[in-house]
This record gives sequence, C-alpha cells and structure tokens, in this order.
Amino acid sequence: MKNNNNLMEKITSLAKRKGFLFQSSEIYGGINACYDYGPLGVELKNNVKKAWWDFMVRDRSDIEGIDASILMHPKVWEASGHLENFTDPLVDCKKCKKRFKEEDLLEKAGSKAVGGIKCPECGGELTEARNFNLMFKTHMGPVESKGNEIYLRPETAQGVYVNFKNVLDSTGQKVPFGIAQVGKAFRNEITPGNLTFRLREFEQMEMQYFVKPKEATKFFDYWLKERKNWYLEYGLTRGKVKVQEHQEGELAHYAKKAVDIQYEFPFGFKELEGIHSRTDYDFIQHEKASGKDLNYIDQVTNEKFIPWIVETSGGIDRAALAFLIDAYTEVKGGREKGKRQKAKGGGQTVHEKEVVLKLDKRLAPIKVAILPLSRKEELTKEAKKIFDLIKKDFKSKYDETGSIGKRYRRQDEIGTPYCVTVDFETLEDKAVTVRDRDTMEQERVKIEGLLSYLTDKFKE
Ligand code: ATP
Repeated sequence: MKNNNNLMEKITSLAKRKGFLFQSSEIYGGINACYDYGPLGVELKNNVKKAWWDFMVRDRSDIEGIDASILMHPKVWEASGHLENFTDPLVDCKKCKKRFKEEDLLEKAGSKAVGGIKCPECGGELTEARNFNLMFKTHMGPVESKGNEIYLRPETAQGVYVNFKNVLDSTGQKVPFGIAQVGKAFRNEITPGNLTFRLREFEQMEMQYFVKPKEATKFFDYWLKERKNWYLEYGLTRGKVKVQEHQEGELAHYAKKAVDIQYEFPFGFKELEGIHSRTDYDFIQHEKASGKDLNYIDQVTNEKFIPWIVETSGGIDRAALAFLIDAYTEVKGGREKGKRQKAKGGGQTVHEKEVVLKLDKRLAPIKVAILPLSRKEELTKEAKKIFDLIKKDFKSKYDETGSIGKRYRRQDEIGTPYCVTVDFETLEDKAVTVRDRDTMEQERVKIEGLLSYLTDKFKE
C-alpha cells in the first residue's frame, strides 16, 4: 500500500538515516543544492549509471563511450551559444529584494507578462526581467584576469561534439552512430530544491546520435521510445511516466524539437530526461568558431554533409531520486503475522508500519545480507565465510545486530533483495535460508550451490 502523505519528507528522512544522501558540508550548516551520496547512495547511483551504460553502450555496436574533461576551452561556450543564451530571466522585488524566475511568476499568475504582477512574498513592486547566466565561472592559471576566465561545463554534450572527429577516426563508426557520456555538470540554478531534483552540481547521462538530416525524425521517435522504456524497465510505475513536447517558446536555443520524459514526483510531473533534435546547430557553430571542417563523408555514396544530432539527455540524480520514490512502499500493520507491538501502557495492540524499498534488483545498493541467527561464534564464523563467498559477485552486508525480524526489516527498508540466514541447522546440513524481499518466501539452499542460486535469482 502506498501512502503519498509527506512522501518527500519520508524519502528525505530515509535518505539521511540510511546513508543515501547527506547535505554537502553539513557540519558547516550545508551548502544549498549540493548533496553528498552516502554509502548506500553511491551504490544506487553507480547502479543507475551502470544500467544506463549497459543499455546505451555495452549492449550496442553503434554507440561509443567517452569521458571528456569538465574544463573546456572557453570558446566552446561562446560557439555553443551558452555564453549568450544559457540564461534564466529573473525578476527582483524592489521592496523585500527577493529574486524570482520570471517563468515561475508567470506560471503561478497564469499570465504572459510580469507587468501587473506583485511580489508573491511581500506584495511589493517587481523589476523588469533581467537575464542571468547559469554557468559557473572560474579562472585557469595563477592570475585572475578577464583573459583566463573558464567555465564549469553546464552540459556534457559539448565534450562530445568537439571529439566527434576523434571518435569517428579512431573507431571507424559510420553514420548513424552515437557517442555516450556520463559526467558532472554545473548550473547556478536560481530555484534549486526538492532534494536532488534540482542541484547546482549534478551528473548527466547523455548520448548524441549522429544521423543523416532526413533521418532525424525517425531516430528522434526511436530514441524517445527507447529511453521511456528504459525507465519502465528499471521499475518506474507506467502510469507515472509520460512524455511532454516543448512548445515553440519553451525550446532551448539549440533545439528544433524537444520532448521531455516526465515522472510524477510528489511535487508534480517533472522532467527526467529530454530528447532533443539539435539539428546541425552545434556543428555549424563549432565549424565557424574553430575553423575546422566537421563534415562527414559517406564512404559508399561519397555524399558530404554535416550530421544532424538527436540527443538523449538525462540526469542521474533525478533518475536515482525517481527510482527511490517509486520504490518506497509503506505497509501498515506489517507484512507478517505476529508483528504487532503492544501499545505502551495498555493491552491494546497497535499496527506497526513497515517500509519496503521495492527497487529493481539491479539497482538495489546491497544485493545480499548475511545474517547469523545468533552471535555465537560457531554461527558468526560460518556466516563470515559465506559473506566472503558472496561478496565478490554481489555487494553484500554482514549484520549480526538485533532480532532476526528487525534485521529483515532493516534490509527491506534499504531494498536488499535477498537475506541469507545462517542458523544452527546450517552447521549440520550445510545449508542456509534465503529470504526474498518481495514475497518473503524462504528457501533452504545448500551453501555449495548458493552462489549459482543467487546468480540465477538476479537474472529473473
Ligand atoms: P529543467 O527544465 O528541469 O531545468 P532542463 O530542460 O534545463 O531541465 P536539460 O538541459 O535538458 O534540462 O538537461 C538534461 C537533464 O539533466 C534533465 O532532464 C535533468 O534530468 C538533468 N538536470 C538538468 N538540470 C539539473 C539540475 N539542476 N539538477 C539535477 N539534474 C538536472
């Protein structure tokens, strides 16, 4: 049973308590819109990246991966249009000095212009909208001067475009083909928030697919479908994922067409990933600015052309957050009989609430928990041996603290698909009990066959 009341608060609390997410620099009061991934968070995030990389790169022959540096030649951002256009129009309140995104004010007021709208905080008069560039700027080298200004990349895509020829020449790929990249991006967002939904430092998973211009629409539709299916394949509820096309006025400066894949977060349907038709915009811009020929020559037809680009651009932090939210399940009264607690000071029973994180097994941070039934050395010794047997193939956790019921629930709460219990019988029959997170069914499995049993289970 799902309970959506205060879902974000519950996710935020779970994320901190269990070590998924910590506010960056928390002991100094934190820094806004930057998060640190804790021991479970980093596993989840790595699993999301692996799922994406496997799907986009490893399982295909037409996509190559790269890892470009974050710092790039400043001319890149001039050519790409980010210096001029990567801006948010902002409006200030003349009275309370609060700053707002024009877009947010217009949306709230259902209006097309700021004129006539008052400050939503104090009712004061608002300024005209002014453009604010979202790129973080720093300096390269020991002297801070206008001449050595450099930017933290606001998207990973440009690292791919400037390497297009390198990848083409070194791999022998032929159009249509793609280049994929996972990496950090930085945006000085005005209205960050909702945990890791909108960060100032985040990670993108982007793929640029190079096509003949007349095939751009075909591949746009293909990639939209593929990418939507990926989110469903990894567990997002079908009814909570939808696509939404950008209207003309909403298009980014480089895009001819853009469709968002959106997820119904507790704060509404919001973008998870954008599929963009970037045409030949970026290549033309880089040709002009660098003076390098970025044409592609078809070896068969001898046709020479600038490829068009279909981009799939998703955020890892947003995807991980969506998977976490979707997996969060509360069961009032617990899932097993006999899990009712005595109410304090009375004979009445109260229903216990259980939390199960029903993450796809491939995304679960811990795959297997090894639990000795008692702390007696004969059992802990055996359990540690089993931990050593499993740990190389599956991220495992050894836990001997608390009652077995509590330990099962602790693992359910962080989404561990299987618990392996070592009991006194284990010493006799050389077998353990494997408990399934979702069905809670238990199976007795011989230790010698445990690894292959689990391997099969993770393939199901
Ligand atoms: P939004 O409209 O939400 O600001 P956007 O249209 O600017 O997003 P893109 O430039 O298309 O986003 O970036 C691609 C993806 O990168 C987004 O779909 C999102 O998943 C992720 N992303 C963008 N900005 C952020 C951010 N500030 N924090 C976390 N993820 C982000």
